[in-house]
Amino acid sequence: MNGTTIPLLRAPAPVRTTCPYCGVGCGLLATPRAGASPQLAGDPEHPANAGRLCVKGAALGETLGLQGRLLRPRMRQRQHQDPHPQGAQSGPWLDLSWPKALEAVARGFGSAIERHGPDAVALYLSGQLLTEDYYVANKLMKGFIGSANIDTNSRLCMSSAVAGHKRAFGEDLVPVGYADLEQADLVVLVGSNLAWCHPVLFQRLVRARQARPAMKLVVIDPRRTATCEFADLHLPIRSGTDVWLFNGLLAFLAQQGEIEPDFVARHTRGLEQALAAARADACDLATVARTCSISQEALTTFYRWFAGHARCVSVFSQGVNQSSAGTDKVNSIINCHLFTGRIGRPGMGPFSITGQPNAMGGREVGGLANTLAAHLELANPAHRALVQQFWQSPRMADRPGLQAVQLFQAMEAGRIKAIWIMGTNPVVSLPDADQARRALAACELVVVSDVMAATDTLAYADIALPALAWGEKSGMVTNSERCISRQRAFLPAPGEARADWDMLAGVARRMGFAGFDYTHASQIFDEHARLSAYRNHPGPEDGQQRRCFNIGGLAGMDAAAYDAFQPRHWPVPPSGMASAPGSGQLFGDGVFAHEDGRARFVATPARAPAHAADARYPFILNTGRVRDQWHTMTRTGQAPTLAEHSPEPFAALHPHDGLQSGLREGALARLHTHWGAMVARVRLDAGMARGTVFVPIHWNAQFASDARVGALVNPVTDPLSGEPEFKHTPVRIEPFEAAWHGFVLMRQACRPPAEADWWVRIQGRDFERCELAGLRPLAEPRAWARQLLGAPAQADWIEYQDAGAGIYRAGHVEQGRLQACVFLSPRTDLPPRRWLGSLFAQERLGDPERASLMLGQPLQARADAGPIVCACFGVGRNTICAAIAGQGLKTTAEVTACLKAGGNCGSCLPELKHLLMA
Ligand code: SF4
Repeated sequence: MNGTTIPLLRAPAPVRTTCPYCGVGCGLLATPRAGASPQLAGDPEHPANAGRLCVKGAALGETLGLQGRLLRPRMRQRQHQDPHPQGAQSGPWLDLSWPKALEAVARGFGSAIERHGPDAVALYLSGQLLTEDYYVANKLMKGFIGSANIDTNSRLCMSSAVAGHKRAFGEDLVPVGYADLEQADLVVLVGSNLAWCHPVLFQRLVRARQARPAMKLVVIDPRRTATCEFADLHLPIRSGTDVWLFNGLLAFLAQQGEIEPDFVARHTRGLEQALAAARADACDLATVARTCSISQEALTTFYRWFAGHARCVSVFSQGVNQSSAGTDKVNSIINCHLFTGRIGRPGMGPFSITGQPNAMGGREVGGLANTLAAHLELANPAHRALVQQFWQSPRMADRPGLQAVQLFQAMEAGRIKAIWIMGTNPVVSLPDADQARRALAACELVVVSDVMAATDTLAYADIALPALAWGEKSGMVTNSERCISRQRAFLPAPGEARADWDMLAGVARRMGFAGFDYTHASQIFDEHARLSAYRNHPGPEDGQQRRCFNIGGLAGMDAAAYDAFQPRHWPVPPSGMASAPGSGQLFGDGVFAHEDGRARFVATPARAPAHAADARYPFILNTGRVRDQWHTMTRTGQAPTLAEHSPEPFAALHPHDGLQSGLREGALARLHTHWGAMVARVRLDAGMARGTVFVPIHWNAQFASDARVGALVNPVTDPLSGEPEFKHTPVRIEPFEAAWHGFVLMRQACRPPAEADWWVRIQGRDFERCELAGLRPLAEPRAWARQLLGAPAQADWIEYQDAGAGIYRAGHVEQGRLQACVFLSPRTDLPPRRWLGSLFAQERLGDPERASLMLGQPLQARADAGPIVCACFGVGRNTICAAIAGQGLKTTAEVTACLKAGGNCGSCLPELKHLLMA
C-alpha cells in the first residue's frame, strides 16, 4: 500500500468486481476498510473462479497506493535539440486543467487532419481498457475522424486467433467455455503455459483431473514449462513446427477413418483442399516426427489419443498466435476439430485463451484496425453503411487501418503526425521496440493516457492524461469464455484522474462531433448493446448477415440496472428476436456464421518461421510471461509479494548450451539480435530445448537498465493477422564480463549509481533492492558505498573489506535498525537476499545479526529460506526441500499440510511437484 490511506467511497460492503490481469476474468470481492487498504478476496459467485484467485489477483491490494501515480493532466514543450538518449522528451512538465488539456489534444489532432487528412492521426489502445472506453475510441476514430488507424496491443497477443476464427467460422467466435475443459476426456494445451499464465483456469483443470483421473492432458510446447508437471504427455516440438504437427494429425485422422462424415458433409466446406495440403506436408509419421523434432512414439501416442477421445478440447494461446504463421496454426488446429465433428457439444472444441482481461471486449467493439463495431467488417460496404446509419456519423473509414507494427513504422516514416496511446506501453511491448522509440520521437504530437507518471512510453509524450486505475474505474469486461462482467469502483478517483471514455468523449466534442454526450458508462454500454442487435437478423432482402455477437438483450439498462449487472455469457439476443446461430452452446446446431451457415476447412501449407538461426545468431529467442508479473510491471512491479518469485530479468537456456557458450548459472549474459541487445541473468534449465533461449517480457527501463526484450524481437508479422513473431528470433548470447557484482538494500528509494553498467530495481516489503554490476573496477568501494547509501559520517557503520579479493560489505544502522546494506564482489555468489531482506523487518539488530551481516551469511542454519516458491505464504525452496528430505514428504498435499505452501492460490503446485520429483 506504500503507506497510502484510502478514504472510503461508500459503506464498507463488499463490492463485486473483476481482476484486471489475465483473460480468465476472475471475480473479486473488494471490501473497503476505514484507514486501511481494502480487503480483497475471490468472489465465490463468479462463474470463472468460484472464489479462487491466483497470486497476482491475491496481491492486488499491494498495487493500490498512489505512489508514482499520474494525478493531473500535463503538457511539455518538445525540445528537439536536446541530446537525450533515443529522442525521449526532456522538457519540463506543466500542469494543465482538463479543459485546456482536452482542447490541446483536439486542436493537435484537428490540425494534423486538416493538413494531412484523417489517416495522419492514430489511436493505440489496450486490452486493459474497459469495453466502454474501447467503444468510444472506435466510434470516434472510425465513424467521425474517418480513419481506421486505431489498433490495440491485443494485436500482439491474439489477432491470429481472430483471423483464424473468421476464416473457419465466419465470425470471431470462441465456441468453448471453462466448463468444457472440465468435462473433456482429453485436453491439449498448445503453446500455452496455462499453469503460470492462466493459473485459476489451470487449477480448475487440475481439480477436474483429480476427480476423473482417466482424463488426459497433453502439452505441446518447445519448453518444459511448469504446466508440464501435470501432463501425461509433453511434446517438445521444434519452435515453429505446429502446422506440421496438426497437418500430420489431420492426415492421420483421415488415414484412420476418424472422420465424422455427416457433420463434415452437412456443416463444412473445403475439406479436400485442406486435406491435400496436410498430406503434402505430412506424408508419414516419421517425417512429421523428424520435422517437429520429437520421437515418433510420442507423436503416435498423441495422434492416437486425439483420435480416441471424442470429448477433446484444444487450448491455444500466445505460443500459437505469436508467429508469422499464427493464423495458419490456428486453422490447422480447428481443421482437426471440424474433421471429427468435435465442436458445439459439451467437453469439446478449439479454445483460444486470451492474455488480457478485456481482449474479448475490444474484439466485440471492433478495436482492431481491420474490424468494425459489433463483429462487423470494415472491408464490407454493407457493414460500414449499417454502422454509419446507427452512429449517424459524418465520415466512415472506408478501408482497414494500420496494424500495430505497421502503425509505428508509418509514424517513423512521418505519415502519422499525432497519436494517442491509452493504457499501454509500446516502447516496451512492441517487437523491434527501439523502432517504437524512434517513431514516437519523430511524431509531432504524442498523447499518452496512463495511471502511472513514469513509464517508458510517457518519456516520449507531449501531453499526459491521468486515467483511473483498477478499483477506481467502472465498466464491463469480457473474459476468454465470452462472459461479460463488471469492473466496479470501490475507491474514489484520486487527484484529477478520469475515465478513458470520458477523455475521449471530451476530445470528440471539442472536435465538433455530435453523439458523444455520455455522462455515465451505462449509456455507452447500452449503445453498444443496441448496435449489436441493430439489423441483426437473417434477411437477404437487406443484404445483412446474421451475427452471432448479439447482446441486444442487455440494452436498456439504466444506471441502477447496470450497476447491479451479474456476469453473463453472450450471445444475449433481445427477447423475441430469433436466436443467433447456435446460441447457448455455440454451433450446437451445426450452423456457423458464414453466409451459407457452413464452417470452412482452411488449407494450411506449412512454412518455416521468417528467419532461421545462423552462424551469427545461433540460438532462437522465445519470449513469454513469468508466474508473478504482468505485462510491463507498471502495477505488479510495485508489489513486494510478486517481486520475490522472479526478481530479475533472466535468460533461460539448456545447461549444455550454457557450457558451450561459457555461461554459468547466475552469471550475466548479453543477448544480441539483428534488432537490439539486452543483459539478463543466466538460468540453466534442462527443460529448455537445445538451441533456444527464453526471456520474460516484463522488464523495462523503469525497473532495469537493459532488459527490454521487445527491442530484440523480429518485427515480422503474420500476413493475415498482423501478429508479430515473438517466439522465434535468431539470437546470440555471450557472457557479460562484469568486473564487479553487487547489490544494495535500502529503506528509501534506491537510485542506481552511475558506475553500474547494469542494474535492476526490485520492490521489497520494507526496502528497495538494487542489483548492480559494473564493467570497470570501483576505485574506492568504501567511499563509493558511503555516498550511495547516504549515511552520515558519524553513522553506525558495520563494515568488512578484503581489498585483495575485491570483497566489500557494509551496513548502516540507525537506532539499532538496519537502514541499508551493500555487498560487492568480483563474483556473482553474493549473500542470500531474502535472508538480508528479513533483517529489515527487525526492530533491532542483535550481535549475531551484525556478525552475520559481515560474514555475508546467516549464523543459523536454515535461516535462509531460499528463493520464494509459494508467494502466498512466503515459503522458500530451501525450506520445502528440507521438509521433503527431513519428513519424507511424497505429495503436494503433504507439503501443503506441513508448510501451507500451495494451500491458497495453487500457483506454486507445479513447482512443488517438480521439487518432489527432483
Ligand atoms: Fe487474475 Fe489470476 Fe484470475 Fe488471471 S487467474 S484473472 S491473474 S486472479
